[in-house]
Amino acid sequence: MPRPLSATIHLDSMRHNLARARSCAPGSKIWGVVKANAYGHGLERGMRGFADADGLALIETENAVRLRELGWTRPVLLLEGIFEAADVALLGEYGFNSAVHCIEQVKMLEYTKLFSPIDVHLKMNTGMNRLGFKPDEYAAAYARLRAIPGIRNITLMTHFANADELEHPRLTVHEQVRRFQQGAQGLAGERSLSNSGGVLQQALLSAELSNDWVRPGIMLYGGTPGGKTAAEYKLRPTMTLASSIIGIQHLTAGDTVGYGSSFQATGPMTVGVVACGYADGYPRSAPHGTPVLVDGVRTTLVGRVSMDMMTVDLTPIPNARVGSKVVLWGDGLPIDDVAASAGTIGYELMCALAPRVRVLEGALGQLA
Ligand SMILES: *Cc1c(COP(=O)(O)O)cnc(C)c1O
Repeated sequence: MPRPLSATIHLDSMRHNLARARSCAPGSKIWGVVKANAYGHGLERGMRGFADADGLALIETENAVRLRELGWTRPVLLLEGIFEAADVALLGEYGFNSAVHCIEQVKMLEYTKLFSPIDVHLKMNTGMNRLGFKPDEYAAAYARLRAIPGIRNITLMTHFANADELEHPRLTVHEQVRRFQQGAQGLAGERSLSNSGGVLQQALLSAELSNDWVRPGIMLYGGTPGGKTAAEYKLRPTMTLASSIIGIQHLTAGDTVGYGSSFQATGPMTVGVVACGYADGYPRSAPHGTPVLVDGVRTTLVGRVSMDMMTVDLTPIPNARVGSKVVLWGDGLPIDDVAASAGTIGYELMCALAPRVRVLEGALGQLA
């Protein structure tokens, strides 16, 4: 009997969320973002769940190669481009589309002979100040790429810092779009601007955003980048982390629970011990009060999360017993709620799913 903890991946929800992205950004082609092991869901599952995407985008060159080995024949985009000159050969060999964000990458492409034509995404830094050419350097970088014989299509790309908060006081999407349009003026090529936040706000931004391609990530996994809840955006959870109660303790007033005795009972209460801890990817930072489902009833975490276990208040579930079903996030409990309580974002929880957790597949709402 394996440990009762498992993560069930809902491929049906992944397909549903991709369809949601399509209806939010009608007419745009979609890069399904599968970096970080498809946000913890498994690269191969990302490929199957997003089989209808126009392309898949990721960071790791070795996983881009794996997509080809797994049989993905449509476009693949390397979101950070290549890391050294030797990677240029991969672009031609596997037909990868590569971001080009710095002059060093332009030089690698200039100095390495391309044996088959490649497509690139030229990245503009419109205020994120992570990767990309400044708007006033952009046309020159474009011209250098255009002069390389092996380069076919150049897509013009930028990335939003605050797509979930259109009126951000420091940097608005409108301002980033304005800088992008200024830097890209007169340059031929498709445009790629929006992450999930941009896709979800597309309706509000449609006058400004001419997105030939969009690059949703988190929304495809049923999380939100901020703004409204996943349910309000009609997104469905794609990962349910579930376990069982493996022990029960009856406390009296003054008893404490777990390391550091951070929780103390004020009266008689029952706590359940759940087989899930921070070594499974559950955040140790999650405080007392973080939501948990036991037998479908919402209750809370008590005490400190330890490596392999955590404890929950069973007061609202008097019939709970050893073997009772626990949902840590996913079906019936939005991952964003758990993340907010732990002071993080759904992205981090998904990506942190530990290798020791068994991963299963099953339709949403049909967990055993
Ligand atoms: C990760 C990433 C995305 C997807 O972002 P989400 O917020 O998950 O939608 C899009 N574009 C780039 C360049 C990225 O690195």
